[in-house]
Amino acid sequence: MSKKLVLASNNAKKIAEMQVLLAQLELEIIPQARLGVDEAEEPHNTFIENALAKARHAAAVTGLPAIADDSGLCVAALGGAPGVRSARFAGDPQSDERNNQHLLEKLADVPENRRNAWYYCCLVLVRNVGDPCPMIADGRWHGRILTAARGGGGFGYDPLFWLPSLAQSAAELSPERKNRLSHRGTAMRQLLACLDNHPL
Ligand code: IMP
Repeated sequence: MSKKLVLASNNAKKIAEMQVLLAQLELEIIPQARLGVDEAEEPHNTFIENALAKARHAAAVTGLPAIADDSGLCVAALGGAPGVRSARFAGDPQSDERNNQHLLEKLADVPENRRNAWYYCCLVLVRNVGDPCPMIADGRWHGRILTAARGGGGFGYDPLFWLPSLAQSAAELSPERKNRLSHRGTAMRQLLACLDNHPL
């Protein structure tokens, strides 16, 4: 029987992207909700600390190796915000639509040439809750924030994330293309290379 790896996320769209990226592994990938794992606290100011907290939490509850993604959007004109608070940028109730609206309002007076932004993703894999050597990988994806939403794919801030070299928003890319280019895809390929050298 293949080994199990818990996916420490409850974000269905993020899970779908990660499942595709992890498909080449001969591992059974199990989203944490299926094992009764609740959302971990994310109290930290850096992506890496939050990713580690999520992976450890899932490993502690399940006794299995776990992989977590902590990611977000960093906008230069906002000093890197919303950053680790990307999912909760507009407060409660949490919704992508409200977050996007809030971002547009914050950038209302910012001209096009100052709307640079990047997505960041940190992935952490722990073999068990006390793993002293977590596997860590990260990726960035640079773009610009639009003044109105475009496209219906992806999730989160994708309809506002413009890729000047492609003349498309991230929400206009196919899932395959997004995974080839994105912060999450870059980080995952790095992690898979690491797993090749140090299998579970
Ligand atoms: P997390 O679940 O705490 O890591 O929060 C991630 C948040 O960052 C998401 O809810 C989105 O708002 C944003 N985010 C991260 N990755 C992406 C992406 O690939 N596309 C769009 N938004 C993203």
